[in-house]
Amino acid sequence: MHLVRPPQEDETLSSWLYRQSKLHGLPPQSYTALSLPGVEIWTRDADRWLSEMTIREIACRLGQTHATIESMTLAGRYGDVLDEVREYNIVHWIMPVGVYHRRRRRHGQQFCPECYLENSVVKLSWRLAWNSFCEKHQCSLSDACAICDEPLTLFYMDPYHHSVCFNCGHDIATSDESGRHYDLCSAFSRRFSPSFMEDAPDPGSLRTLMTLQLGQSQGRHLHRTWCNRIGMVPMAGARGRWECMRVAERHVLIAATEAVLQTGLDRIVDDLIEHGVTRECLRNHHVGQSFWLEQYVYPELDTKQCSPKSRANYKAEMADPLKKIQRKHTSVSRRARAEARARCIDIMLRGMHQP
Ligand SMILES: [Zn+2]
Ligand SMILES: [Zn+2]
Repeated sequence: MHLVRPPQEDETLSSWLYRQSKLHGLPPQSYTALSLPGVEIWTRDADRWLSEMTIREIACRLGQTHATIESMTLAGRYGDVLDEVREYNIVHWIMPVGVYHRRRRRHGQQFCPECYLENSVVKLSWRLAWNSFCEKHQCSLSDACAICDEPLTLFYMDPYHHSVCFNCGHDIATSDESGRHYDLCSAFSRRFSPSFMEDAPDPGSLRTLMTLQLGQSQGRHLHRTWCNRIGMVPMAGARGRWECMRVAERHVLIAATEAVLQTGLDRIVDDLIEHGVTRECLRNHHVGQSFWLEQYVYPELDTKQCSPKSRANYKAEMADPLKKIQRKHTSVSRRARAEARARCIDIMLRGMHQP
């Protein structure tokens, strides 16, 4: 007889199937092989997206409604906050787990150790980059075993000992990091609830502000200033997509950004100007729409910005003409090209015409 335990609120599909296997006294693979023959679960990121056909098959075989199964995937549950989630596209805010056969190579599945030890439920919202704390326990989320740094992989977990790391055999430790900046981080994640106000920063603008701090030198300088203001140590050398950052670094970025968002628009604009961040710098980091930046920040930047532009800003603004100049010099050495480019910037900065 097939026993079914209803899924918990916000539970991932793999977590629910893992608990189902426990109910039947089987390892996860044997359970899915028997109850869902021919359906791939563990060798793919099933918690992110599933095809209509697969959802229908799982729903039918395990006696659930289509909506129940769909709501256990990120695409089904958070589709309206996130952009469209498809099988292979990159969706901002979703942290990648790096599926490699049955292993996980990236630390995208965060978990609250206390919640997980209580009932072995893994939540969908822990996959979203704006969450870095557990609301219930006010503790930091973990993204790996504290001893061996291996990501949580339910497939390998012993059904009867979900509290033991499959890799090193140690108990999964509760987080010893205190709730430092819990208020800032939880305020930041509340910005993504559907009821945010009209003039509040939209997800696109927030992401632009975050990636700015990981990019050009002005952005990293801004990050150091914002961190100093709340007494945090800035991130050392994090680059690239912020969804790929580990949870400890994301704490710093989220807390620093939220603190400055709370100081208000004027202060943000002053900070941007002081650090030489122009609208072109910000545009380099746009992904999709950034309504709040376009409507509120750029007009302010344009009226207030009167300081002479920095060399780096000219570089960003004049990228295309500079490339043209560079192309002209392709026959000469790399060094000559760089010199030609530097000479052009000098000329532009002095406001003179090219001889
Ligand atoms: Zn918790
Ligand atoms: Zn371990």
